[in-house]
Amino acid sequence: MDFQPDAGLDVFREEVRAFLRENLPADLTGKPVGSVRSMRPDLMRWQKILNRKGWSAPYWAKQDGGTGWTVLQRLVFDEECVAAGAPTQDGFAHKLLGPVLNAFASDEQKAAHVPAILNGDRLWCQGFSEPGSGSDLASLRTRAERDGDFYVVNGQKIWTSYAHESDWIFLLVRTNTEVKKQAGISFLLVDMKTPGITVRPIRSIDDCHHLNETFFDNVRVPAANRVGAEGDGWAITKFLLNNEHASAADLPILRRYLIQLRKLATTQRMGRDPLIAQPGFAQRLARLEAEVSAVTMLVHRVAALEQDHSHAAHAMGSILKVRGTELQQRISEFLVEALGDYGAVAYPEPHDPCDGEPLPLQGVGRGIANEMFFRRASTIYGGTSEVQRGIIAKMLFQL
Ligand SMILES: Cc1cc2nc3c(=O)[nH]c(=O)nc-3n(C[C@H](O)[C@H](O)[C@H](O)COP(=O)(O)OP(=O)(O)OC[C@H]3O[C@@H](n4cnc5c(N)ncnc54)[C@H](O)[C@@H]3O)c2cc1C
Repeated sequence: MDFQPDAGLDVFREEVRAFLRENLPADLTGKPVGSVRSMRPDLMRWQKILNRKGWSAPYWAKQDGGTGWTVLQRLVFDEECVAAGAPTQDGFAHKLLGPVLNAFASDEQKAAHVPAILNGDRLWCQGFSEPGSGSDLASLRTRAERDGDFYVVNGQKIWTSYAHESDWIFLLVRTNTEVKKQAGISFLLVDMKTPGITVRPIRSIDDCHHLNETFFDNVRVPAANRVGAEGDGWAITKFLLNNEHASAADLPILRRYLIQLRKLATTQRMGRDPLIAQPGFAQRLARLEAEVSAVTMLVHRVAALEQDHSHAAHAMGSILKVRGTELQQRISEFLVEALGDYGAVAYPEPHDPCDGEPLPLQGVGRGIANEMFFRRASTIYGGTSEVQRGIIAKMLFQL
């Protein structure tokens, strides 16, 4: 691991900044991007712009149609996009499903889905969790029974983020009840327009609609949409979840929070003095800055381990998930506190433009209360902190 300044990375950062300056349309910027996937039309439009540049898949290898960037280049790209206020990408398609397709899918499946992902023509959601099967995912009960060239799917998924605005879902189903539970799971790609799928909204604590219950009632899915062999679903899932943990710290978001806090430190007053003049505020800010630096070091460490294909990257990814998400919660809470009365403003939807809103902290305060509430869930989704601690203990103490 090398912490020397990397001149090559600085040149790359300048290239990304120049690209963003020239290609990111002003009307796509400045919408809150922290906790939520950007609005469908914005995300799709931005994805096409990235695709024209050849930067549509920063997380994929070159031979798969990606940029082939190193982990640190990806980090720089994400940071600059967040700082410029660019729309998000479809994380489900790019960070989770894409690597699975590249590693396990048939050539026909790749041809059917990869170009649409690269060009932002098709958005995806993740159908894993069920009522009673979250941490213990292998206990899932949604059945897929073979009927000729089709599977007939029956069951229920829950917490399906963005199911209501996704075109396809990648789904874990039980295809065999006779074997060990992990061995009876398969991985299907399902068109959300297939008859028999019902999506019901779940309104979350941030007063927004990202989450859903998704019901499958005799849904006929072509057997050709199964990725890997029947029963391979668990191995594919382990591969996918490793990727999910490793990116969950969301360092660009942590850094954006710090920039917002620093801005508030000088613009928000307590009495006649700026917040930063309060010793309590300054000390807390300094501590959080130090903790974000520590997470940054950890990200570099994981990057180095991943580059060397080291097994330890997995446990480190879990440490990153726990530390990063706990910091997301603490910093977003501090932001709301620092905003004082304005922190209590709840916006009905985080994408609301708030035109005409007389907030003195316009551009800083908007959507922060929603985001702070949403971050309560960050230590749950992608594997809870308790489960991550179990993984870390197992790896470190070789249990
Ligand atoms: C905002 C949000 C978005 C989500 N999006 C999606 C999505 O798009 N697709 C999807 O499939 N799922 C999604 N999820 C579901 C998420 O993956 C699960 O909530 C998570 O895996 C936990 O499962 P659970 O909710 O069933 O809780 P449970 O597994 O029932 O856990 C309950 C409690 O028990 C603890 N616990 C459980 N097992 C252990 C253990 N072995 N050791 C120690 N403690 C344990 C947990 O830490 C937790 O505190 C989302 C969840 C949230 C909150």
